[in-house]
Amino acid sequence: MDNCIFCKIVRAEAPADIVYENEDLLAFRDINPQAPTHVLVVTKKHFQHLDELPAHDLQLAGRILLSIKEVAQKLGVAGGYKVLTNCGEAAGQVVPHLHFHLLAGKKFLP
Ligand SMILES: [Zn+2]
Repeated sequence: MDNCIFCKIVRAEAPADIVYENEDLLAFRDINPQAPTHVLVVTKKHFQHLDELPAHDLQLAGRILLSIKEVAQKLGVAGGYKVLTNCGEAAGQVVPHLHFHLLAGKKFLP
């Protein structure tokens, strides 16, 4: 998607504080953090949201899930973090490119 900000970050055409990268995903710090640790885990391929993730590609879905765990480990928050995704504008999704919020920190966690 030419004018998608997350696609631009994936293509290194827009700046981001990248904390993790692999063949499927890029993770970078949210520019407006809602927790002491707030990272966005973004698929390199453009999907609008979770509903667009292809049902036939269980390997991709599994790699995404396990990669989020690796991001948490790299950030030093393994064992104490929250992951969420907003699916669609009605759910509060602002950027229409599949991404997961990884949130951690004493101020955020109950
Ligand atoms: Zn995109």
